[in-house]
Amino acid sequence: MYHAFLLKYGEIGIKGKNRYLFEEALVDSVRRALKDFPQEFEVTRPSGRIFVECKEDFDFEDVLHALQNVFGLVEICPVVLVLDEGFDKLAEKVVEFVDKVYPEKNFTFKVKCRRSRKDYPLDSMQLAAELGGRILDAFPTLSVDVHKPDVYIYVEVRTHNLCIYSKEYEGLGGLPYGTSGKAMLLLSGGIDSPVAGFRVAKRGVKIDAIYFHAPPYTSERAKQKVVDLAHQVAKYSGPMNLYVVNFTDIQLCILDHCPHDELTIIMRRYMMAIAEHFAKEEGCMGLITGESIGQVASQTMQSLECTNAAVSMPVYRPLIAYDKQEIVNESQKIGTFETSILPYEDCCTIFVAKHPVTKPKLDRIEKSETHLVGFIEPLLEKAIDEVEVISID
Ligand code: ATP
Ligand code: MG
Repeated sequence: MYHAFLLKYGEIGIKGKNRYLFEEALVDSVRRALKDFPQEFEVTRPSGRIFVECKEDFDFEDVLHALQNVFGLVEICPVVLVLDEGFDKLAEKVVEFVDKVYPEKNFTFKVKCRRSRKDYPLDSMQLAAELGGRILDAFPTLSVDVHKPDVYIYVEVRTHNLCIYSKEYEGLGGLPYGTSGKAMLLLSGGIDSPVAGFRVAKRGVKIDAIYFHAPPYTSERAKQKVVDLAHQVAKYSGPMNLYVVNFTDIQLCILDHCPHDELTIIMRRYMMAIAEHFAKEEGCMGLITGESIGQVASQTMQSLECTNAAVSMPVYRPLIAYDKQEIVNESQKIGTFETSILPYEDCCTIFVAKHPVTKPKLDRIEKSETHLVGFIEPLLEKAIDEVEVISID
């Protein structure tokens, strides 16, 4: 029954002079979300809102779902469009709309009108009052409540037509794709990092991702799992490059030359350093990890301090104060959980010590790393040279 969607956005509304940039980015995101549908959608931006119209029939649920994955949209309202053929005809359509959308006639309502064309014969207040009257005439079991109605019936007078809507579906919120710069996500096959990427991307940050694998200790399937997760995150965050770095020789080198209880920390520091290298190349302004205080030995505040010191770029850790269960809940919500829990080995777990340090000291770690001098440099260079870049669309 619906012909179009009216899309409402929240925070962008307060961006002042730059508002149109955010609106344009949001329109682009909406177009991208709809580009794979067989139908042609027209996305326009009349005064402070976005309209998605389609002249053909489309699958309402599918399109709604696609729009619900777009960062920056706060509400998605399916609308019925009618031509301006006088008030009586409009009232008839509004009554028909109420009848279809709300089969149970036992609620309170309020009609709200808005005119973007001021030459309509009735002003907004009059139009709302008249339409409310017609609805009551048609369905005497309904009643009007102007303060706390169960249901709002919206009618907007537009330049070429009128639109009627009522249901408002929740959008994701956040800021549109690419309005906040770019960052590099350290993406492992676990539960946390996809959620971390989602969270930062939701703030309008474009993301690229980097994955460290350790063949033959980690399998092709483990890598495929990360590629799958990147696709799942990209459904929200937009297209990204996934850097796949072969980390095996670096890990073996650390294993050979450094104390075993410091392996994880030292390895993490090298991961960060390599990630920073590619981040700079890509024009990223920061790194993103899925770390959370105290989750494991390598994420105590002392460990985080050591990891952080390996790079000069800001490191964004959106899950820093989340409990594991909260992260799990979010990963289920965004749809990455099922993939994340597939049982393939992770390069960190294979080389992990039985009793890793939980309170590493940076000066000691740096001292241990001096044992790598002369060995690790060519390995770093090789890992960087031989990176595989997978384009995730
Ligand atoms: P996750 O669930 O994201 O794998 P985790 O609980 O397993 O996290 P760690 O293994 O300590 O935690 O990793 C902490 C963070 O370091 C991850 O969230 C991720 O951002 C990054 N990371 C860990 N391993 C890798 C890897 N193999 N490739 C890329 N990034 C990694
Ligand atoms: Mg992990």
